[in-house]
Amino acid sequence: MKRGKVYFIGAGPGDPELLTLKAKHIIEKADVLIYAGSLVNPQILNYKRKGAISYDSASMDLKEIITIISREIKKGRTVARIHSGDPSIYGAIQEQITLLEKKGVAYEIIPGVSSVFAAAAALKKELTVPELSQTLILTRISGRTRVPSRESIVKLAQPQATMAIFLSITQIEKVVEQLLTSYPSQTHVAVVYKASWPDEKVIKGTLASIVEKVRKASIKRQAIILLGKALDDDKKTRSKLYHEGFAHDFRKDQGEKNIAIVTLTQSGAQLGALLKKNLPVAHLYVPGKLGIKGKGVKSFSQDLGRLFGELVHNYSGFICIMAAGIVVRTMSSFLSHKSVDPAVVVVDEKGKFAISLISGHLGGANELAKKVAAIAGGEPVITTATDVHETLALDLLAKQLDCKITDFDGIKQCNYALLHEERVGIYPDLLKQYITQGDKSNIKFYKTINNLLKSDCLFKVIVSNKQVEKELSKQKVEGTVVVLNPGNLAVGIGCNRNTTSTEIEDTVKRLFKDWNLSFQSIKRIATVDKKSGEKGLISFVRKHHLEIEFFTPQQLNRVVCPTPPSRSVRKAIGSKGVCEPAALLGAGVKTLLYPKRKTANVTVAVAEIPLGRFLKQNDEKVD
Ligand code: SAH
Repeated sequence: MKRGKVYFIGAGPGDPELLTLKAKHIIEKADVLIYAGSLVNPQILNYKRKGAISYDSASMDLKEIITIISREIKKGRTVARIHSGDPSIYGAIQEQITLLEKKGVAYEIIPGVSSVFAAAAALKKELTVPELSQTLILTRISGRTRVPSRESIVKLAQPQATMAIFLSITQIEKVVEQLLTSYPSQTHVAVVYKASWPDEKVIKGTLASIVEKVRKASIKRQAIILLGKALDDDKKTRSKLYHEGFAHDFRKDQGEKNIAIVTLTQSGAQLGALLKKNLPVAHLYVPGKLGIKGKGVKSFSQDLGRLFGELVHNYSGFICIMAAGIVVRTMSSFLSHKSVDPAVVVVDEKGKFAISLISGHLGGANELAKKVAAIAGGEPVITTATDVHETLALDLLAKQLDCKITDFDGIKQCNYALLHEERVGIYPDLLKQYITQGDKSNIKFYKTINNLLKSDCLFKVIVSNKQVEKELSKQKVEGTVVVLNPGNLAVGIGCNRNTTSTEIEDTVKRLFKDWNLSFQSIKRIATVDKKSGEKGLISFVRKHHLEIEFFTPQQLNRVVCPTPPSRSVRKAIGSKGVCEPAALLGAGVKTLLYPKRKTANVTVAVAEIPLGRFLKQNDEKVD
């Protein structure tokens, strides 16, 4: 150890045993010790030699620290400048080094155990688990020290790597909001308070629950936030959330379905390759022993039951090139309900028959079977009753209209009624022209909801983006009512910078209540391109699995709108308005359903996508 030198020492996260031997030796010999009292465990000062002077730097500014150091160095003394964890991470050593260099003071840095590693140890976790994440991001939220915007949490969140967030616990709400722009809400998060100290606390949760838990535990300092796939030790949810085949929430409804083609034999693999070539989002799973390789080809060695178990939540469709019996036996324990089960199609090795086995309507297996048969040059085998009898299937109609189905039982009963030619009434009557299946003489179409409700139809199907519950509660209705909320509203939103997702959500919900519109019917949010990084808006969209569409000011300016142009908006954004033209463009229509409403930070307008467009589009797809 040299006299007249400064040693920047990493004192570790708290536990004095986590001091390095080198650090301990220097502390034992130093003449002067300057330690960061707020984070460094004072116990380590017990190692200092008799007569050594110590200073707590917590209340000192940079100038004072440097003055003490220079003064002591001039006297030929050795100074230990003690930082928490490792000095290179948020240690503010650079500014000290710069000044010391100017004065020609010699210094050395002794690394330490950073609190991030003590936190990982407290969690008993590896932060870089193969296939989950091979990257650890150390960061913090912007505070008094600004974080360059290119390193904002929103940007860093994109790769969904393991992340350790320092110095941010007091702003955890904001942190979570920003993380949610990329990480799924079920991502595991841990907050470790005073890692390696006797009063260490670990709080585990998900992005959805952690804020509340931290608030309840009153943790306001000395804590690190750790998150990512690597923290999840539940294999089942992990494979569900993060498997590479998992279509992320944000893209879920925008892209095509992801499909796993599974085969067991060489000739099955040939057909599999042909199918894969024609289905752009498919992966082909082949037994490893066949030695087949290629892009999108995945080999497996586990038995088929295991494989299905691992894949069932990660793909929305399966094409199994094998005997139907094998599929039934191995797949059955993984199936739960038609609302969530994947489409399963079984095809023989020669591609003669493509059988729609599971989730014919909602999962789209009937469609998939038709596609597979067309590619393989075989026959689709479809057994759903409404298809066989060519009658209307309400679940299929609901799917085509982008409805979020909740009343499965009502739909099932209604399909049964349709099959048995019972009287079924449907609102609105414009659907009549699009319903092409078979004989429709038992279906009556109504112009108003009221007339339908008053009718003697056994089943009354209301397709509406309105909140019809009020209407229903006003009168006594005979028979079964099935309400379908089509996803046909485009909501134009403008908002001030940094408006929170909660404020946006509350505003939209309140206005929807005023307008008597169903929140379930929102298909997409439309706004100006400047808002593509608007965290609150993006997390609102993600939370509700909505689509979002951005338009340039030029595009918005070309649209004719009822509300007069706003000078302040033009100044800030460059367009005459945002929510009204965006809603119109988002719906692809010329008139609004509801014009602009404005609150302190949010503007909202709504346009309606004509129902016919969904049905026409879907017809085209089927063909
Ligand atoms: N150089 C230090 C970090 C200093 S910045 C290191 O490498 O650990 C201070 C921040 O570090 C705190 O806000 C907190 O986020 C984190 N921190 C420091 N000690 C901690 C501990 N024992 N447990 C949890 N977090 C800690």
